[in-house]
Amino acid sequence: MSHRRLEIGRAIVHIIDDGQIWMDAGGLFGLVPKRLWSRVTSADEENRVPIVLRCLLIESQGKRILIDTGYGDKMTPRVREILGLPPDDRDRLLRSLAEAGFKPEDIDIVLNTHLHADHCGGNTRQSDGLDARAQPSFPNATYWVQRLELADASFPNERTRGTYFAENFQPIADAGQLHVIDGDVWVTDEVRTWIAPGHTRSHQCVVIESEGEAAIFLADAIPWAVHMERLAWVPAYDIDPLTSIQTKKQIIAWATRHQARLIFQHDPRIDVGRLVETDGRWRVVPQPE
Ligand SMILES: [Zn+2]
Repeated sequence: MSHRRLEIGRAIVHIIDDGQIWMDAGGLFGLVPKRLWSRVTSADEENRVPIVLRCLLIESQGKRILIDTGYGDKMTPRVREILGLPPDDRDRLLRSLAEAGFKPEDIDIVLNTHLHADHCGGNTRQSDGLDARAQPSFPNATYWVQRLELADASFPNERTRGTYFAENFQPIADAGQLHVIDGDVWVTDEVRTWIAPGHTRSHQCVVIESEGEAAIFLADAIPWAVHMERLAWVPAYDIDPLTSIQTKKQIIAWATRHQARLIFQHDPRIDVGRLVETDGRWRVVPQPE
């Protein structure tokens, strides 16, 4: 499968595919009644909807920066089945990176938007089978993780325990490859993180700005385009829904001011879009390749 490549000024952004999982629609749409969200997407017989897993490989100022690492392959066959993943489709992320022309050793920085399992599962892998100890997937990379996110992931509560797994970040720390960041940081002069809370307390988006062009990787601040068009549509996964709404307003204001390209991590229909106002309402218009 060919991958999509964007030029944002001098920065090159590759959209890296880590496949698709199926999740209960209640998680993605929260309080929104099914009769409303079913106009946007249809669910399977188990009420699951497709969640695409996109990662980014950004080439900026000589650095190769991987944003998020998908679900990885450390789950049992039973969990794979629950997620709707084919039993033997392993190493999707590394395959997609190879198709884009990158080897695991080429990655300088891995940056996790947050540490939920569908964003950092590919940080580590068990090349010797599911009983083996997980090892960093990217041997030459430093892994950038937010301090508060690491705290929340290290000491999960009853609600977050099902998605924060130490095997996705502890082997990174053990290997001396963890770089803890605190708040908004510059990764290069063209790439920066933006704390966008609500989904988790220190969830971060990634902004790319170069030569007057701008793009933002929205991660779980705005998982599907419809969550941007309808502010009240907030996933049930979000730990603080009212903060999520504030975050969305700030992103919309920034994105319109900068005419930014919007990169959606989980939307099966729109990978890259732009905001357009019609009749006083914001709509996300897909950007063709
Ligand atoms: Zn996610």
